[in-house]
Amino acid sequence: MDNCIFCKIAAKQIPSKAIYEDDDLIAFHDINPAAPVHFLIVPKMHIPTLSDCNEAQQALLGKMMLLAPKLAKEQGCAYVNTGEGRGSGGFKTLFNTGPDGGQEVYHLHLHVIGGPHPWRGQR
Ligand code: AMP
Ligand code: ZN
Repeated sequence: MDNCIFCKIAAKQIPSKAIYEDDDLIAFHDINPAAPVHFLIVPKMHIPTLSDCNEAQQALLGKMMLLAPKLAKEQGCAYVNTGEGRGSGGFKTLFNTGPDGGQEVYHLHLHVIGGPHPWRGQR
């Protein structure tokens, strides 16, 4: 897709601070982090929003969601279930969809936001 910033990042036409890549997905640090850890999990395929997904994207969406805790752990914000109380650590996962959902980049992406509180942003 022409003029799509995340397509260009996936194609290495513009740089990113990548933390993961496979045939389907790339993950990189958000350029304007809302918390100590803030990265995006992005399909290489251009899909504008979560609302443009259907059953054909079911496995892709599952892969994105399951990647979130793995990368969160690597980035130092794993959720640790201690077996007592709430446990510790953790992160937020977020798809912004459409203007009223606060979406700015119209290429599907999953925000993973974590690290010690307090955070600057409250997305
Ligand atoms: P959203 O509002 O859900 O569309 O979020 C888009 C996110 O992409 C924002 O958090 C931006 O800071 C981030 N972003 C925009 N351009 C870049 C870029 N070149 N590299 C990394 N993150 C970016
Ligand atoms: Zn795109």
